[in-house]
Amino acid sequence: MGRLFAPDTASIGATVRQNLRDGEVQVPGRHGLPETIARVIRRFNRLATHSASGSGATTILRQPHKAALLRMNARFAAAIDNLAQGLVILDRDHRLIVNNRRLYDFYPVSGPPFAMGTQLRDIIARNVANGHHPDCTAEQLYCDMRARLDLGVRFSFRHALPSGLLIQAQWQRLPDLSWVGTYEDITEQQQSSARIAHMTRHDGLTDLVNRDGFCEAITRAAARTRRGDAFAVLAVRLDRFTKITDTLGHGIGNALLREAASRLCRSVREADEVGRLGGEEFAILQTAAEPPDGAESLARRIIEVLSLPFTIEGNEVSVGVTVGIAMGDTAMIEPEAILRSAALALAEARADFDRPNCRGGYRVFAAAMGEAATARRAIEADLRHALDRNELVLFYQPLVNIGERRVSGFEALLRWRHPVKGLIPPDAFIPLAEETGLIVPIGEWVLRTACAEAMGWDVADGGTSLRVAVNLSAVQFASPGLVEIVEDALAWSGLPGERLELEVTESVLLQDNTATLETLHRLRSLGARISMDDFGTGYSSLSYLRSFPFDKIKSDKSFVQGLTQSGESDAIVRAIAGLGISLGIATTAEGVETFAQLQCLIADGCTEVQGYFFSPPRPAAEVPGLILSTPARQVA
Ligand code: C2E
Ligand code: MG
Ligand code: MG
Repeated sequence: MGRLFAPDTASIGATVRQNLRDGEVQVPGRHGLPETIARVIRRFNRLATHSASGSGATTILRQPHKAALLRMNARFAAAIDNLAQGLVILDRDHRLIVNNRRLYDFYPVSGPPFAMGTQLRDIIARNVANGHHPDCTAEQLYCDMRARLDLGVRFSFRHALPSGLLIQAQWQRLPDLSWVGTYEDITEQQQSSARIAHMTRHDGLTDLVNRDGFCEAITRAAARTRRGDAFAVLAVRLDRFTKITDTLGHGIGNALLREAASRLCRSVREADEVGRLGGEEFAILQTAAEPPDGAESLARRIIEVLSLPFTIEGNEVSVGVTVGIAMGDTAMIEPEAILRSAALALAEARADFDRPNCRGGYRVFAAAMGEAATARRAIEADLRHALDRNELVLFYQPLVNIGERRVSGFEALLRWRHPVKGLIPPDAFIPLAEETGLIVPIGEWVLRTACAEAMGWDVADGGTSLRVAVNLSAVQFASPGLVEIVEDALAWSGLPGERLELEVTESVLLQDNTATLETLHRLRSLGARISMDDFGTGYSSLSYLRSFPFDKIKSDKSFVQGLTQSGESDAIVRAIAGLGISLGIATTAEGVETFAQLQCLIADGCTEVQGYFFSPPRPAAEVPGLILSTPARQVA
């Protein structure tokens, strides 16, 4: 056992020097020490001219050549003092043998450094007096430390200092029952690992939790569900967001997302979690939700709050909002399953949103939605092959000119002859084709087929002058090359452009950027006529008439169907016909089923009619017969 001396400085250098002068110093051996300290000691041992007595734990040096030893000692002292870690060595009676300068950087004390031989109890008391442990008394701390020293062979703890430093301490007992403690500053390391942990669970743009972080929050909420706390997950989507980034740029889009995120955070309670799942999709975890009323009222609040216009860099921007709600109950606590259900409910809400006059809404998940989604996936898989397998066909419905009392053309209406499900109407698969982008090749096929089939209408009764009307989807406008596709269909079939009518709905003009209007003008320059379909069902039909000079307005069949029952429909149909007359363009009334309706329409001044009263859509082969028979029926 080494002797203890009171040094005149805190540094180990002085201690070692003093010990050496007295002829004997004991230095802890390498065994069980932290690597940095072990390395210093290994060097020290290499420098020693006299070999060790005993091995492993303790190296004892006896009176060597004094000069060499002093040199060695100086190096050793410098090394210990320059360690990045604070170092303390206590003997078996918990008296101080060694401490280094670094330790005082972490735990500065007023007055002189600790003298060698100072008792642990006194060291702790002085540290407490210097304010390093504001939360406990010296006695508590000493008891705690004693318990650890008495019981273990090694222990570690973290100490957050009032100075802001975070210290990782490690204590290790040596075979001779002395103790070595190292104190390391891990403040930065801790901060950067906290930063990395934050980044893996948060979205860089909004600083909300990302999908992973949100799933973890669901897992925590699910654990509470087992104790009876219900929760809800709301999938929130900003509609028309792409349109905003397309027209105003990604900078504005990002600012909008950040602003939307902060509005969402302000709309929920503290215990709730808001996350960004990606793109323009957010999610809210509502804790302690009263199923499902609480979630529904939150959904209404979210829609209201996000529907208020945003002012971003001087631009006033408005978005629509749709929300899908899934209740987390004991039957459904898998994060991904809950998110899937919320997404399905959101898709339902979005399908409604796409309908005219609807500016956002919410849906609560129901099991049937899952079944519907499975059925949709099956249809989608089949639809991908429908074109190659020649399963798509066009039916034609006559358009009857009232003044001329004859068929003026046919509207081409798509059907899918499914090998198992039979004839599928367009409403059952076109929305899906639009979602998947399949409408682009399908639409191209429709155009080519309609043009080619119209070329075959060379019936004696002026068949070659009949027009063919083709419906175009907004998705076709959004994808490049539509004008070239139409041009190509005309050239390939030989149909003069003047015989082609292109029907667009307001959804095309919803994306009313300059590109859409330019496309419409270019299509018309090919000779084609442009009709506005389903007029009057949108919320700004009239304003669209101003944005492009349409050749024809087709009033929605719902007005015709209400004709003889409601004065309102009558007034609307009359107004649309009047609009056509004053703008000098044709008006077609769709959905004429009865003679009474036809009489009303004629009286209102409609120029063209279409409906089951004349004929439902029929296969291409029946067109020649329809050309001949339809006017006769109308005259009758
Ligand atoms: P639309 O363009 O408004 O077509 C008129 C729809 O009304 C057709 O339904 C037609 O069968 C139906 N209809 C016609 N007369 C009457 C009537 O007297 N009473 C009733 N109740 N209905 C009548 P269909 O063929 O089921 O087509 C539905 C919608 O699907 C079309 O509405 C159109 O928007 C879309 N569509 C059809 N074919 C295509 C296509 O090739 N491409 C695109 N993008 N959409 C298409
Ligand atoms: Mg149409
Ligand atoms: Mg229509």
